[in-house]
Amino acid sequence: MAPPALEIDFPGRSEKCSILFGDNLVDRLPLEFFSGVSSIAIVTDDIVGRLYGKRVLTHLSEASKTSIITIPHGERVKSLTTSSNIAAQMSDLGIDRSSAIVALGGGVVGDLTGFVASIFKRGIRYFQFPTTLLAQVDSSIGGKCGVDTRWGKNQIGTFFQPAGIFVDSSVLNTLPKSEVINGLGEIVKSSIIADREMFDEIARSVEDYFEIEKLKSFVRRTCEIKAKVVEKDEREVNLRKILNYGHTIGHAIESSSHYLISHGRCVIIGMICEGWIANKLGIFQESDYIRQKELLLKIKAKYKITVPVNRRKILSFAMLDKKNTSNTIRMSLPEKIGRMHSGESAGFTDPVSKELILQSLDVL
Ligand code: NAD
Repeated sequence: MAPPALEIDFPGRSEKCSILFGDNLVDRLPLEFFSGVSSIAIVTDDIVGRLYGKRVLTHLSEASKTSIITIPHGERVKSLTTSSNIAAQMSDLGIDRSSAIVALGGGVVGDLTGFVASIFKRGIRYFQFPTTLLAQVDSSIGGKCGVDTRWGKNQIGTFFQPAGIFVDSSVLNTLPKSEVINGLGEIVKSSIIADREMFDEIARSVEDYFEIEKLKSFVRRTCEIKAKVVEKDEREVNLRKILNYGHTIGHAIESSSHYLISHGRCVIIGMICEGWIANKLGIFQESDYIRQKELLLKIKAKYKITVPVNRRKILSFAMLDKKNTSNTIRMSLPEKIGRMHSGESAGFTDPVSKELILQSLDVL
C-alpha cells in the first residue's frame, strides 16, 4: 500500500500542495492530478531524460497530450537564457494557462522550471518530480524558484508553489553516490534543527546511507520538517531562516570554490563551523555540540570531504548573505540537537563577528 501523502496547507490558499511518496511513480503517477489539463510539458535534463523521460511521457500521455523539453544538465544552465529558451519551446508547443508543467530532475531543473512556470503567461500550474536526494528532501518543497546570474547564485527568482510534489524512491537507485552525500547534508541539518531521534538514528547508521530502504524514512521525515516550516513562514520572514543552518558559511565556501565543492558537502562543513560558533556564543549546549561535531567530522572523513580554505574569500562571501542586516553577518544557530535558537527579537538569527567566523574555520 502507498504511504499516505503529506499536505502543505498555506494560510489563505484554496489549494493545498500534496507531497506523494512511492516506488516507481515514473510509471504510475495518479492521473487525477492532471484531470482537465489541456496539455502537459515535462521539463528535464539530458541525463534524467534518458533514464526516465520516456516512461513519464508514456504514462502522462494517458491523461493529456504530453511533450518533453530537454535541457543540458548542470548548474551552469540555471540562467535567464535557459528560462527564456524553455518558455519559447512551451509557446511553440501550444502550452497555455490550462496546461501543466512537470519538473523532472534535480534542483537545477526544479528551480528553473518553477521559475518559468511562475512567469509564463503570468503563471501556470506546475508539479515537482524531484529525482535527486537533495531535490526530494529540500529544493522541491517550499516554492523557491530562480536562476543564477553573473553577480551571484539565485539572484533572480520568485516564490511559486507547485500544485504537487512526487517523491519516487526508485529513482534514487540510479543516483551516483556523490549525489547521495549531497542530500545527506540536508537530512543531517533537518535532524539538528528539529528531530533529535532522527539524529540518533543517523549517528547509528553511518554505514548504511546508500541503502535506499534506510534513506526512505529519512526522506519522508525531512520532507515533513521542511513542509511544516514553510507552511508557517512561506516568505522567510522569520522561522524559515532556521533552514539556513550551516548555509551562511556553507554558501560562502561553495561560492569561493566556484561551485566545485557541491552544496551538500558545503552544508556539512558549514554546520561544523556554525555549530562551533553557536557553542562559543553560549547558545549550543556543550554535550550536544560535541555529539554534532563528532558525527559531522565522521561523515567528513568517511566521504573524504576536503576544503581548501581561503579564509578572506569565505568571509567576503559571507558578507553577501541574504540574512545579513546593516553590514552585520547573521546566522541561524542551534540551541540543542532538535531545537534552533529563537534568536535576537525572535527572528531566528543572531549576529556573529567576523573574527569568530575566521576562528571557526580552524575547526576543520
Ligand atoms: P542537479 O539538479 O544538478 O542534479 C545533479 C546531477 O544528478 C545532474 O547531473 C542530474 O542530471 C543528475 N541526476 C538527477 N537525478 C538523477 C537520477 N535519479 N539518476 C541519475 N542522475 C540523476 O543538482 P541538485 O543537487 O539536485 O540541485 C542543486 C540545485 O538545487 C542548485 O541549483 C541549488 O541552488 C538548488 N537548491 C534549491 C533549493 C530551493 O529551495 N529551491 C534548495 C536547495 C538547493
